[in-house]
Amino acid sequence: MTDNTPQLYIVATPIGNRADFSARAIETLKSVDLIACEDSRTSAKLLENCAISTKLVSYHKFNEKQRTNEFLKLLEEGKRIALISDAGTPCISDPGRILVNELFGHIQITSIPGACAIIAFLSMIPRNTEEFAFAGFLPRTKNQQSKLFEKFINIDTVFYESPNRLLETLENIKEFRGEQAKVAVGRELTKMFEEVKYGTVAEITDYYKTNTLKGEIVCMLYSNDNNHEQDTDIIEKIKKLKTLKYSDKDIASILSTLYGFNKNNVYKLALGL
Ligand code: SAM
Repeated sequence: MTDNTPQLYIVATPIGNRADFSARAIETLKSVDLIACEDSRTSAKLLENCAISTKLVSYHKFNEKQRTNEFLKLLEEGKRIALISDAGTPCISDPGRILVNELFGHIQITSIPGACAIIAFLSMIPRNTEEFAFAGFLPRTKNQQSKLFEKFINIDTVFYESPNRLLETLENIKEFRGEQAKVAVGRELTKMFEEVKYGTVAEITDYYKTNTLKGEIVCMLYSNDNNHEQDTDIIEKIKKLKTLKYSDKDIASILSTLYGFNKNNVYKLALGL
């Protein structure tokens, strides 16, 4: 490394609305020697629109390792490279991490920030705390999802999901956390048909059973800790049933049957009262 001039630029591109392409991102992409992109056909359209004619080279999950070695050689020769993904911020559920991990400390890396679906989503939904966990794309199987949501039970968890799997995932959440668990869904953010829904998992499931479920989706499952309304409500109900001498086990069965609360959660709460 000879000076502080960045050699590798991690450049965010729009997640739907082309006007979100920043002037700095465009300037950088015009000035570098090479742009590493996921799919050159997708990126060519975007870049053409902004009169960016820099050479494109593919960089995707199947050639990350090989390309990293090639890029290192070019960077050592003094070339400057920008990394973009199909949409949004590279390295966030997109290729780039291997490149950054390998090159960090050897060359100067900088970020040209911009659109990122999770950040856009988090900025526009109700939240009680700054804390959140990001799970990337959810694992496919119910068992893996159950483990993940168990791990993040006490923190709001944001994740990417496909429209084909959303209803199944919402049904799984109902089973893991009960019908009253709070969720938010952001669909087609920054695009013409942008939609954001917030409510109980039962309400949101019902909504998407009868409304359009297409496009790109980002979701939040709120932590049980942040579900204050639900907690107070359950606690009042548990207390009432306890005064009527119901066992903790019966209370869990009654409240999960009548109100859709998660049986295990009610049982744990009842034990502590
Ligand atoms: N790196 C990207 C970013 O910064 O947002 C995310 C890449 S990931 C491969 C693509 C996923 O992000 C989509 O399948 C969808 O879940 C989510 N996503 C991307 N654009 C979106 C949008 N406009 N609205 C909602 N979700 C979006």
